[in-house]
Amino acid sequence: KAAVITGGASGIGAATVARFVAEGCRVTIGDRDVERGEAVAELLGDDVRFVPTDVSIEQDVAELMATAIDDWGDVDIVFNNAGFGGALGPIAQTSVEDFDLTFDVLVKSVFLGMKHIADHMTERGSGSIINTGSIAAIDAGWSPHLYSAAKATVIQLSKTVAMELGDSGVRVNVVCPGAIATPLLVGKPDATDADLDAARTAFAPTVPIGRVGEPADLASMVLFLAGDES
Ligand code: NAD
Repeated sequence: KAAVITGGASGIGAATVARFVAEGCRVTIGDRDVERGEAVAELLGDDVRFVPTDVSIEQDVAELMATAIDDWGDVDIVFNNAGFGGALGPIAQTSVEDFDLTFDVLVKSVFLGMKHIADHMTERGSGSIINTGSIAAIDAGWSPHLYSAAKATVIQLSKTVAMELGDSGVRVNVVCPGAIATPLLVGKPDATDADLDAARTAFAPTVPIGRVGEPADLASMVLFLAGDES
């Protein structure tokens, strides 16, 4: 199979790229972090391509999907996963610009990622789209206002698109990670191993099994949802 994975330069996305390649899948990474994206692609070899992409820009996402279809012939799986923390702080101090940016990166990106693969998948009569939500989409108190609201929107948009595309054999699912040890949890893209360990320790008590999630845990879940058996 062939997949497009956004946010594949780091964290959950990078772990999913590696797992998919290990399972024999060809993967196109779309990420705005060119240095890290190219490094992941180089490490994993010929089955991975990197396309510099800002997922909040329609032209970028359209080109990402078109490039993947050109390179691999077909695209079976799209993992709309890129994200960031978005606007921080109290509601009274949140600017409209920060609102727009947060929803552009977390919601418009998922809309575009589905919009620009829907025809390709429905024409083939199969496909699996997986979008990244969050525990913050379901429970309040995990994250800032707009991140929570944006991720809740991702869930509902995925449900309505699943209803439209299901008849054509295309599935749409959302994964809602809890605390996962990635740079996003730490709050800096260049988080060190020590930073990640500190986050693991800090968040472990919030998880019933006593440890935070790891990117590889999510990769396993996404792999399951990508496969026909799911
Ligand atoms: P991460 O910071 O390790 O990776 C996010 C990736 O998205 C980075 O490579 C970054 O460059 C990319 N990205 C950000 N904005 C982009 C844009 N506009 N265009 C293209 N690429 C962009 O974080 P992660 O934890 O792996 O996050 C992956 C997804 O998981 C996100 O949607 C995040 O909201 C979600 N999530 C994470 C956690 C957690 O605890 N880590 C929990 C719930 C949900």
